[in-house]
Amino acid sequence: MNNDQNNTLQTLIPFRNRILKDLMIRSRMGITIYIMLWSIIIFSTGLYRVKPLFSWSVLALFFLISLLRLIQQPYYLRSSARHHRFHFICLIINILLPAIIWSALFALSMFKPIHSEFKVLMLLTTTGLCSGGTSSYLPDKRLALTFLAIMLLPTATLLIFFNRGELPTLLITLCYFSYMVLVTLKGSNEYQYALMNEAKLEEKSNELKRISETDGLTGAYNRRYFNRIFDIEWKRSSRDGYPLTLIIIDLDHFKKVNDTYGHQAGDEVLKTVTLEFKKAFKRCTDVVVRYGGEEFAILLPGIDSQTALARSESLRRKIESMHVTYEGLTIRTTISAGIASCIPSHSQPSEILLTEADKALYKAKNMGRNQTQTMVIT
Ligand code: GH3
Ligand code: MG
Ligand code: MG
Repeated sequence: MNNDQNNTLQTLIPFRNRILKDLMIRSRMGITIYIMLWSIIIFSTGLYRVKPLFSWSVLALFFLISLLRLIQQPYYLRSSARHHRFHFICLIINILLPAIIWSALFALSMFKPIHSEFKVLMLLTTTGLCSGGTSSYLPDKRLALTFLAIMLLPTATLLIFFNRGELPTLLITLCYFSYMVLVTLKGSNEYQYALMNEAKLEEKSNELKRISETDGLTGAYNRRYFNRIFDIEWKRSSRDGYPLTLIIIDLDHFKKVNDTYGHQAGDEVLKTVTLEFKKAFKRCTDVVVRYGGEEFAILLPGIDSQTALARSESLRRKIESMHVTYEGLTIRTTISAGIASCIPSHSQPSEILLTEADKALYKAKNMGRNQTQTMVIT
């Protein structure tokens, strides 16, 4: 296997479940096609009267396989990555088993002319099945090629060795087989290409979404993200009965920092304090947001006001003792924080948390700054 093939397979591994589902959806038509075609053949040619046991047994076999496939369908759709291999093998068996039976019928039609129409109809339906089958199984190139080989090669081989009188049929079968192999290879490449493009597009759209919800200067989330997540967390907390806590933090006398050291130095302070905020609130559910200017919001799902107060105070002390150096200048800053906490309920508007945290922040500012105040909503 060359490097290119290896790379393609590696890239397709994350799509295994998607490929299985695509295969399943695309091959749905095949569940009933064998029953339909075989019924038409045996009834139109009268084969069911000439060879009743054979005709009905084959039809029953196709019914049985279709039934198995119908039963398995919902399991394929819900299959987890863990059971991927098992479901994939089941689907392959379900696809290849009727193909093997049909291939045997095709060979039989060439060698045992039960009925003259039977041969023509089998040739016609087999080519139709090959075209439909290969285009349905394009998500898995090996499956599509195996299907083609099963359908056509046994008969072609038998024709080569045992029935030289059927040379035109043999040549047509081989030409058709080669043509279908080329169509399959091209179609499968196009499918893989489309799949990878779709993944790239999804990755780009996720990246764009991330950028649109991130603050450019500090790397914290922005207000757009806050509005989205706040609504989600409020609903989740009210459903689960967990506390939801919001801390609003504002840098003290930040205008003076800008006036004294310059706007660039102020930016550096904003970046440095954001890193500290992220370090202080690093649970995967903690959300650090630059709410605007030098104001930050920290959303803490599942955290009560006591715990939030302790963590906010420890952060405040850290910022108080910290020095930000910018172009040889040493800058110190402090923060004021307002905490509001509640166990949300569906009857309350979510804005209450914002209003109360804001009130707590004003209180902290009015009481001299560099401190945390709390409002507990009852
Ligand atoms: P207080 O303690 O009452 O909060 O006083 P303050 O000076 O921090 O508050 P005020 O609202 O008067 O000033 C906020 C300042 O924050 C003014 C503005 O220039 C500055 N600021 C807002 N966004 C940025 C930014 O992105 N970079 C820099 N360097 N400064 C910013
Ligand atoms: Mg301020
Ligand atoms: Mg402010």
